[in-house]
Amino acid sequence: MPPSVSLAHGRPYLAIPGPSVMPDRVLNAMHRASPNIYAGDLIEQVAGLWPRLRAVAGTAAHVALYIVNGHGAWEAANANLFSRGDRALVLAVGRFGNGWAESARAVGVEVDLLDFGKSSPVDMARVEAALRADKDHRIKALMTCHVDTSSSIRTDILALRRLLDDLGHPALLAVDCIASLGCDEYRMDDWGVDMTVAASQKGLMTPPGLGFIWFSEKARERCKTSDLRTPYWDWTPRALGTEFWQHFCGTAPTHHLFALFEALTMIEEEGLDNIWARHRALAGAVWAAFDAWGAGNPAIALNVANPAHRGSAVTAARIGGRDATRLREWCEHEAGVTLGIGLGMAAPTDPAWHGFLRVAHMGHVNAHMTMGVLGVMEAGLTALDIPHGPGALDAAARALLG
Ligand SMILES: *Cc1c(COP(=O)(O)O)cnc(C)c1O
Repeated sequence: MPPSVSLAHGRPYLAIPGPSVMPDRVLNAMHRASPNIYAGDLIEQVAGLWPRLRAVAGTAAHVALYIVNGHGAWEAANANLFSRGDRALVLAVGRFGNGWAESARAVGVEVDLLDFGKSSPVDMARVEAALRADKDHRIKALMTCHVDTSSSIRTDILALRRLLDDLGHPALLAVDCIASLGCDEYRMDDWGVDMTVAASQKGLMTPPGLGFIWFSEKARERCKTSDLRTPYWDWTPRALGTEFWQHFCGTAPTHHLFALFEALTMIEEEGLDNIWARHRALAGAVWAAFDAWGAGNPAIALNVANPAHRGSAVTAARIGGRDATRLREWCEHEAGVTLGIGLGMAAPTDPAWHGFLRVAHMGHVNAHMTMGVLGVMEAGLTALDIPHGPGALDAAARALLG
């Protein structure tokens, strides 16, 4: 191929972990005139939205919806959970756990942060020690990401519930599912979660701009007097309001809602069990490819050594040197695939930053898309003379087939 020819013309693929690929059906659902927000179709569809959102999270809990991104959803969670000076225990296995801790601390919550680094799962023994040390039960909430998108580490939420129960610790269990909802198996009620937070632009296949909080009746009772709550963030009217505008504290996010209705229809058509299995299969293909590449170059490796601790919507990896940046740029400019940066693995000013990347396989993605990304990465590794083991695509194909 002559050096001036780019093979990027065609449909681009944004394989970063959010915003995720938007289905044409979702885009088309938004392409319509502004609806009446006082009567008619939109009001009826919103009435049917709440049970659909409960089903996605596996819960009978209350649901509050906000016009925000994930950071806004964190603030909504903080405002409802806490009063100034309340204590929280936050578990971090990457950038987003730290981010939630910072957002709580900034509004006056006393945060105990257990940071397990960027490549290791939560150490349950350390969590147990921290809860045991809290003899007078000052910790009001235990907060964690289900999957931390920066490291792709998945945390065992049910194990945290059992730990709280075994210790008789009353802390509310609050989980950030922004990267995992609609991708990884998640069962809010079966796992005894008191509050779940999510956002629209990842597994839910909807443009950035909607945040969700599911909260149990226990959480509602326990947080009735939270004084960080202001009228806009208060989850009560949003979840339990009797007038339409109260669900949004003002004008409804009309076109985001049309997008969300269609995305939920797609999720319902496929079924959560199938969605989880699809994500596991695609993730398995990506992991198999990295293992094969890494067999020929020790600098190439998945960030999370043990598959049991990996989320299935995003894979964090290192290529070493400057090669991750080189590969990302090649894939984008020469082949139309945008891979994710290595978020939080090194400071952007540190040369090591250029050794990390992430591959998203999140939401509206299927076998040809993930195999396409891997094929393009294989071509890029070859074009850039980055040493790598052979047989990655073969290994990925076999992994796909289970
Ligand atoms: C994406 C993400 C966030 C932040 O969401 P924004 O919409 O970028 O504010 C928080 N937590 C997790 C786990 C995420 O994946």
